[in-house]
Parts: sequence; structure tokens; C-alpha cells
Amino acid sequence: MKRNPESKFVKLRCPKCKNEQITFGKVSSAINCHVCQEPLAQSTGGKTRFITQPLEQLE
Ligand SMILES: [Zn+2]
Repeated sequence: MKRNPESKFVKLRCPKCKNEQITFGKVSSAINCHVCQEPLAQSTGGKTRFITQPLEQLE
């Protein structure tokens, strides 16, 4: 399976508190952990840069 950052949804796990959350694969603003506010992804120049590796990608 190709890891495509354009996927619709991805599951991210916070490296700090291990919280798992699902977010859009393409985000227009920074994504922070819902629990501890650790940054998980950020948007740079229209591209999503994941700070933590997505666990899986969901259609
Ligand atoms: Zn967290």
C-alpha cells in the first residue's frame, strides 16, 4: 500500500500521550493532539507535513 499524503483520512498517534485521533490527510492548518496539544501535523505551502508518522490511512 502506498503512503499517500493526499489520502482522505489518516490516523495519527500522539508521540507524547499515545492518544490516537483521525484527521484529514490534507489539512489547511496545524493539527494538535486533542489531549495534550502536542503538534501532530502542520501545513506548509499547501502541503501537509506530518510530524508523527500516520499509523494508517482510511478511505
Ligand atoms: Zn497527546
